[in-house]
Amino acid sequence: MSYGGVMPTHPAIVALQDRLTGTLVLPADTAYAAARRPWNLAIEQHPDAVATPADVDDLRVLLRAAREAGTSLAIQPSGHGASGDLSGAVLVRMSAFDELSLDLESGVATVGAGVRWGAVVEALEGTGWVAPAGTSPVVSVAGYTLGGGHSWFSRTGGLGSDNLRAAWVLRPDGTHERIDDDTDSDLMWALRGAGGLVGIVTALEIELVPAPDIWGANLTFDVVDAPAVVRAVRDLAVSAAATLNVFVNSMRMPDAPELPEQIRGRSFLTVQVLSTDGPQDELVDTVRRAGEVRREITGPTSPAALAAASNEPTEPTPGRGASMALSILDDETIDALLEFRELPEHWPIMGIDLRMLGGALNAPRRSGFASLQSVGWLLHALVPVIPGVPTEPGDASLVAFRELLAPNEAPQTVATFLGPDQSLDRCGTADDVARLRSVRSRVDPEGLLHEGRLPR
Ligand SMILES: Cc1cc2nc3c(=O)[nH]c(=O)nc-3n(C[C@H](O)[C@H](O)[C@H](O)COP(=O)(O)OP(=O)(O)OC[C@H]3O[C@@H](n4cnc5c(N)ncnc54)[C@H](O)[C@@H]3O)c2cc1C
Repeated sequence: MSYGGVMPTHPAIVALQDRLTGTLVLPADTAYAAARRPWNLAIEQHPDAVATPADVDDLRVLLRAAREAGTSLAIQPSGHGASGDLSGAVLVRMSAFDELSLDLESGVATVGAGVRWGAVVEALEGTGWVAPAGTSPVVSVAGYTLGGGHSWFSRTGGLGSDNLRAAWVLRPDGTHERIDDDTDSDLMWALRGAGGLVGIVTALEIELVPAPDIWGANLTFDVVDAPAVVRAVRDLAVSAAATLNVFVNSMRMPDAPELPEQIRGRSFLTVQVLSTDGPQDELVDTVRRAGEVRREITGPTSPAALAAASNEPTEPTPGRGASMALSILDDETIDALLEFRELPEHWPIMGIDLRMLGGALNAPRRSGFASLQSVGWLLHALVPVIPGVPTEPGDASLVAFRELLAPNEAPQTVATFLGPDQSLDRCGTADDVARLRSVRSRVDPEGLLHEGRLPR
């Protein structure tokens, strides 16, 4: 059995086809092409096999086979954050771990490692609690939370990983147990932001964020107002309460004949304000007055409504982007960014998001590898991959985007905002990475879990 005639698959891995209750797909199988693909179709990965274990016993069988074959297991619920080469590894899909239970008295969700945020968000509608979920309903709770995870509500509730109270972990030695800060605080620290390196998580206990009265305002401006509007949003960060969450999106519509004339080829800026404790009209007014509002939607909202309106892709897509965490957003940076946005050579960048940080992110309630403490802003530039359109100009624009913002780059970001080519040394200090390595060598001395984004 071989992939592309290069490396024969180890017999211990081939034998898994008979040993697992779940499924195993090998490179020679017709299902392999679809099974190996990550959600981000721009990433190529060629694992030795793709396993979908049915339960914890199956995971133990996989660990034993990996030990015998001298290979590793790469846990990847769906691969929004796929980062490339998996040759020599067994890709593990966690879809069978689909438990979801809510304790609305204490505000805790227990979520299996295969569950996607959309299911949790839907189950919480109207309960007065919100999940610390990101903007995409199809991202898995485990992949997001174990990588840090910045949410719609992070100024109010912190990072996804700050809300990870406990996890059910299968250690590479085969023990499966509930871990919290009292039983293994070092392992919990590592799970909060670098999860995949230190254990196979089968379920997570997540604290929910109280949100008694969710109110939102969406203000869209023409690009001519962008310098004043972005400054107004920046200034809001100084006084806004932690119950206020603010996102800015700069969108350039493609110059496509099928689009209406009034938007075709034009740039817009949308400011999205979310409050978890009711209307904040006075604060929003400071942004409203900074330009001419072309479109406004204001009123009560909900996470399900936000997800539906977010236009995030829900089907596997080839996407390329670049993120930057900034310490400060000064006038100079705002002007440079907006000028950059108008240069035709950078038009392959369709959207740039700016997320206001601070609030609860500056006072994390739990210790974790992931932290956005003292980071001011999180930016993400998106280049869509369009069939037949060369990718080089978009790649060059993403490099230029990073270079432009580099002078204000914050010392750390979170793993869920890393590009495929970036490693965890961007998420913590050298001491943090050393601590992570030491937790990993304690729990996984044989390296049975794929080393993923560990700095090489
Ligand atoms: C459209 C879109 C919108 C997004 N919006 C946001 C956002 O608002 N905020 C944000 O923070 N991120 C966001 N992301 C990034 C996303 O959170 C990351 O890509 C993350 O990796 C989740 O993706 P996934 O569920 O596909 O996990 P995968 O990419 O499949 O897995 C990511 C990693 O998590 C670890 N892992 C996953 N499950 C387990 C497990 N059971 N046990 C041990 N380790 C495990 C592994 O190391 C794995 O490599 C977005 C991504 C997309 C494509």
